Amino acid sequence: MKNNKLVIVGTMAFDEIITPSAESGKILGGAATYIGLAAAFADADIAAVSVVGEDFTEEQLNLLTERGIDISGVEQVRGGKSFYWKGRYHDNMNKRDTLDTQLNVLADFNPVVPEAYRDASVVMLGNLDPNVQQKVLDQLLPNPNRTVLLDTMNFWMDLQWDTLLNVIKQVDIITINDEEAMQLSGETNLVLAAKAIHKMGPAYVIIKKGEHGALLFYNDQPFFAPALPLEKVEDPTGAGDSFAGGLSGYLAAQQKVDAKAIKEGILRGTAAASLCVGAMGTSNLVQASSEDFLAQLQKLERLRNITA
Ligand code: AMP
Repeated sequence: MKNNKLVIVGTMAFDEIITPSAESGKILGGAATYIGLAAAFADADIAAVSVVGEDFTEEQLNLLTERGIDISGVEQVRGGKSFYWKGRYHDNMNKRDTLDTQLNVLADFNPVVPEAYRDASVVMLGNLDPNVQQKVLDQLLPNPNRTVLLDTMNFWMDLQWDTLLNVIKQVDIITINDEEAMQLSGETNLVLAAKAIHKMGPAYVIIKKGEHGALLFYNDQPFFAPALPLEKVEDPTGAGDSFAGGLSGYLAAQQKVDAKAIKEGILRGTAAASLCVGAMGTSNLVQASSEDFLAQLQKLERLRNITA
């Protein structure tokens, strides 16, 4: 029987973001933070597995617990510093450069999945060291109804190629942006890239194209979900993670995970991402109510409706 448990692993971080119109200073970020906040819009039982330093405040951790997320798998290292990432967006906000990545406490992280979540039906391997992603998989109890999702980025392809490929073999759904799909597959055409990534393991390949939406490749039949056209994108950071959170949270809350549920989940992911990019960092996701989330979903439905 499928349960509604979702285990999320990913970074919890401090980010510094520079956009053409603003500089954030040091703010809350990290893949697991965005994924957790976005997944919490669904009726799922969520646990986060991550590591933070002493610099992470109780207030910041509370942002997750207030959303009902179990953080017993979030280790806080005394005297340690949290993962830090600094990035700058180009005038075309689809492009960004990483200016600095400091692993800090992530460098020696040994993840522990809380006992109560080892049978989780949905596991979201968010962006972080593939060795840590593997250690999470190794702790899970067998569950024939399990769906494993993975997100990653160029940083880990450059540094941990073999380990990453081995993790990808064990994954059902991969979410990856277009440039990273090209790097992973060695193909410049996205259809060919998806085919090559299928061969690496995942039955479902989701290629994110930023403001141009997301493509799902499954059984030779692509599905496309447009992003909501927005007047103002304040900060695209975390859009990919929010997408993964909206999708994995929805899947955890379903009785069954099949292609239809994944397509529905992609719409939830798109809705969460459109909320996320409207303000700097996590602030919009933190403030958004479930009504705000539903309103984004309705806008997406209208975007796709040809009768009205
Ligand atoms: P996204 O914009 O969805 O790609 O995610 C941005 C988030 O990923 C930021 O909050 C960063 O803290 C986090 N991040 C950046 N680089 C890495 C990395 N190499 N590994 C894990 N997380 C990262």
